[in-house]
Amino acid sequence: DFIQALTMDGSKDKTSKEPELSEAERKRMTIEETKKSLPVYPFKEDLIAAIKEHQILIIEGETGSGKTTQIPQYLVEAGFTEDKKKIGCTQPRRVAAMSVAARVAEEMGVKLGNEVGYSIRFEDCTSERTILKYMTDGTLHREFLSEPDLGSYSVMIIDEAHERTLHTDILFGLVKDIARFRTDLKLLISSATLDAEKFSQFFDDAPIFRIPGRRYPVDIFYTKAPEADYIDACCVSVLQIHATQPLGDILVFLTGQDEIETCQEVLADRVKRLGSKIKELIIIPVYANLPSDMQAKIFEPTPPNARKVILATNIAETSLTIDNIIYVIDPGFCKQNNFNSRTGMESLMVVPISKASANQRAGRAGRTAPGKCFRLYTAWAYKHELEDNTVPEIQRINLGNAVLMLKALGINDLIHFDFLDPPPHETLVLALEQLYALGALNHHGELTKLGRRMAEFPVDPMMGKMLLASEKYKCSEELVSIAAMLSVNSAIFYRPKDKIIHADTARKNFNHIHGDHLSLMQVYNQWVETDYSTQWCYENFIQYRSMKRARDVREQLVGLMQRVEIDMVSCLPETTNVRKAITAGYFYHVARLSKGGNYKTIKHNQTVMIHPNSSLFEELPRWVLYHELVFTTKEYMRQVIEIESKWLLEVAPHYYKAKELEDSTNKKMPKVQGRATMTE
Ligand code: ADP
Ligand code: MG
Repeated sequence: DFIQALTMDGSKDKTSKEPELSEAERKRMTIEETKKSLPVYPFKEDLIAAIKEHQILIIEGETGSGKTTQIPQYLVEAGFTEDKKKIGCTQPRRVAAMSVAARVAEEMGVKLGNEVGYSIRFEDCTSERTILKYMTDGTLHREFLSEPDLGSYSVMIIDEAHERTLHTDILFGLVKDIARFRTDLKLLISSATLDAEKFSQFFDDAPIFRIPGRRYPVDIFYTKAPEADYIDACCVSVLQIHATQPLGDILVFLTGQDEIETCQEVLADRVKRLGSKIKELIIIPVYANLPSDMQAKIFEPTPPNARKVILATNIAETSLTIDNIIYVIDPGFCKQNNFNSRTGMESLMVVPISKASANQRAGRAGRTAPGKCFRLYTAWAYKHELEDNTVPEIQRINLGNAVLMLKALGINDLIHFDFLDPPPHETLVLALEQLYALGALNHHGELTKLGRRMAEFPVDPMMGKMLLASEKYKCSEELVSIAAMLSVNSAIFYRPKDKIIHADTARKNFNHIHGDHLSLMQVYNQWVETDYSTQWCYENFIQYRSMKRARDVREQLVGLMQRVEIDMVSCLPETTNVRKAITAGYFYHVARLSKGGNYKTIKHNQTVMIHPNSSLFEELPRWVLYHELVFTTKEYMRQVIEIESKWLLEVAPHYYKAKELEDSTNKKMPKVQGRATMTE
């Protein structure tokens, strides 16, 4: 079987004199065997026949069946790429797109980026030769702008359809529409769960091809009482399993990079203290921004007599299949973007998962052998507190970006767009209003020249507007740096547990008196001055990898700025214009200091607070602009700058009235005594 084959290969005596070639051949053999062992393999011929017969096919099969990695290869074998057309396959998550492409390139024995490639936001790893292209759903969405009929594709696979991300949902409507006039285009909708019927109905009763799964039983355990600290409970459970249960890898579901890093540190620390009393425990993190060199680690076989523990976000729920998982630990939460259409505020929060998610998670334990799933919540909570299904993204997030893209595609009547599940009416209206306020739409709801330029940027409309405003304020150099840094923001600084004071001091050195965007800009500029030094990052507790990514993103943005004909100019050392340009994009995100050290948003009077990580946490300027809201114990503004209220009239005269902005003395208030302390 697969695992053993790989393990034997991995533990092969390195000193043996066998020539290199035989090593490669051996690997190839293993790959061939693995491919044949996957549940989809026996259905290869039937599947190809069904695809030849029907234009649209729904494919349903459990996670790990081989849908994502195998079906595109079958299509290549069956000749679907012969007349210079390629096969596309969308993934909701970038890590999945990258890692699956890497795997398939390996299986096909080609270099990643040649015949097999991937394309994700800010990174295109494909070439003229690419016949198999994995991409995020957002990337395909953008491709419609340059190729509205997807003319270069013979087959398009909308994969992981059950995830129901906003982009995937919109793609359903777009591909259904083009399939009508591109009768030569094959459309595959592939899903891991039970939504197949629904997809079939949407696609005019397209047939469903079911790949029977192989599943071993999974025993489910619940806690007797709710866990107060689930991170700690996770660590304890991991160590208990490690100490008492037979070998087999553990998969832990956490909500994000922060939690994963905390858990990783605590575990590493406890393992170190236990020393040789326990077997080797290999800790592997998996999250969305995971650098590509660390992604390969996920799939490395566990050495004999050791155990792997994978700390993952819900990316490991269905997008990535990791073999040999026997134990799953499920605290029952995930991070979700939620949008309140009444207040127009969007925030990232940790929420309980749905029953469907909980069952997917448990299923990860039973792929290769009978498994166990430890739910860190009570059986009662499962039954009574979890929703049956996760609400599709389109019904709970801000649609600004999606609406701008659809408008740019010439789809004007959004109310009658063919949605699998329509978004709430008020969310659509709000998105239109916001785009109007940003100047992207005119009062007939048509795209303006500014809107067309904004649509060139694969970013939120507010960020797009901010970048375009840098033209007027002559600070494009600064703004692309800030935009790049914001796009990797949470992962810039690190705080190792044993050096928290040093890390925090280092961070404070970058603090800018006017706020976090400018602090980020200083970090970037100083890094450039050191000629992109790794050592400098290390000394300043900055993640080198994140900086490298910021640099890549920045390069892409500079390219896009050229496309919309904006010259790269700097306004430094003056920074007022930088803040004005930011305000031109983010004027919705403004709050005013009120009594007690709280802030209130201008339009909706919502109470928000400055995040403790902000350089303005101690300052409390009268008027602030925030990049995003995060909800933990309170609604926090993250990445905050100080602004002047009169700028709002300058950048958004159609949105703000002078009266709303009265009492704008622009003076700082002294820090209020006895303000609730914030923890995070
Ligand atoms: P599905 O799409 O049906 O969930 P996949 O095609 O993703 O299934 O996975 C099929 C098999 O390929 C699984 O056993 C998985 O572990 C393996 N696999 C996927 N990606 C990689 C990778 N990067 N390295 C090694 N194995 C992988
Ligand atoms: Mg898949």
